[in-house]
Amino acid sequence: MCKGSFLRLFDRVIALGFVFSNMIKSKLPQVSDSIFTTMSRLAQKYDALNLSQGFPSFPVDPVLKSLHQEAIGQDQNQYAPMAGLPKLRIKLSQMTQEQHGAFYDPDTEICLTAGATQGIFSAIQATVHQGDEVILFTPAYDCYAPAVELAGGKVIAIPMQVPEFTIDWEQVERQVSDRTRMIIINSPHNPSGNMLTQQDMLALQEIVLRHQLYVLSDEVYEYIAFDGRTHYSAAAFEGLRERSFVTGSFGKTFHVTGWKMGYCLAPKAMMQEFFKVHQYVVYCVNRPVQQAIAQYLKQPERYTELGKYYQRKRDLFLNLINESRFKYVPTHGSYFQLLDYSAISEEGDVDFAKRLTRDHKIAGIPISVFMDGNDPKMLRFCFAKEDEELVQAATILNRL
Ligand code: PMP
Ligand code: GLN
Repeated sequence: MCKGSFLRLFDRVIALGFVFSNMIKSKLPQVSDSIFTTMSRLAQKYDALNLSQGFPSFPVDPVLKSLHQEAIGQDQNQYAPMAGLPKLRIKLSQMTQEQHGAFYDPDTEICLTAGATQGIFSAIQATVHQGDEVILFTPAYDCYAPAVELAGGKVIAIPMQVPEFTIDWEQVERQVSDRTRMIIINSPHNPSGNMLTQQDMLALQEIVLRHQLYVLSDEVYEYIAFDGRTHYSAAAFEGLRERSFVTGSFGKTFHVTGWKMGYCLAPKAMMQEFFKVHQYVVYCVNRPVQQAIAQYLKQPERYTELGKYYQRKRDLFLNLINESRFKYVPTHGSYFQLLDYSAISEEGDVDFAKRLTRDHKIAGIPISVFMDGNDPKMLRFCFAKEDEELVQAATILNRL
């Protein structure tokens, strides 16, 4: 080998060594793009109807939009107080009192967050220590497990009972160990739409009090409940209220998922720890959005009528696909409907979802990704869509 080419080879080896030595050691090695990103990207690529990622396709109420513009026009454009605008915290306190008969002190027990996601993340970071175990139920929304792992905790996943997506509380009791710190619940549930009953909440309360655990209650679909069902918040049960973080999302309630505005409620001692994380994750959240929402909340029908609004959409969608080969149980809450496709295909749900998107121009979410690969052959479809889109979706689904 001549001297020149030896030097070029040497340079390459050095460069490669440099690349490897600079490769970051991942804290979440098994995490890649979320299924929502993946399916929305595919829907775009194949110009498919996107019923995958959960967001409304219809326009936002013009009143809410102009309240936001007004807030910006009034120069509500600098940092908000760390916990959020006092008038919005007061309003949230009143709403929780009215809805669940529970009082949260607006000064010390309520925090506005950047979507429910940041509330969930901060609550977990504030509570879970290295080696702690956190129980969650699969299928589980995708942001819980990575937050637990980043805190050094260990996820204990308990499968829900398919196809009703219920929880076996005796199994939960058996899974509690000396290391269990927290139980995460989500009702109305994404992706199944199932809702925890009063008996579920009482069973949870017993376990939580017996073992002195904390609860993270993800209630982002709190106002989207169907067929006269009651949403039982953790706030409504005295024993749970004392040990729970309750998270909510105005993005879901007011069709503004892109505004990323949520909140967290917790008793004072827990909220003190939450604030310590919150102030260094984000410090405070979007002020003009808070100002607009505080005004908009003055008319309670804007949230209390939401269940009725989405029930009509659910019924429209289900009536339209009634003759299809999909099997389903009408969803109890949330804006998601699971459809069982086992009479149509034997493919795994990820392959089936991708094929539907590519060949039939409709995107849904395969739910096995939320349940450690277990595949009950169901796809999740979001019906927070314009009626015409639901008609188009049904036309496609009926052909399969
Ligand atoms: N929890 C569940 C169950 C969800 O479906 C979502 C998605 N919106 C979130 C939390 C996150 O809510 P946000 O968009 O307000 O962060
Ligand atoms: N919550 C939305 C859903 O379940 C997704 C939000 C996101 O993309 N992270 O579809």
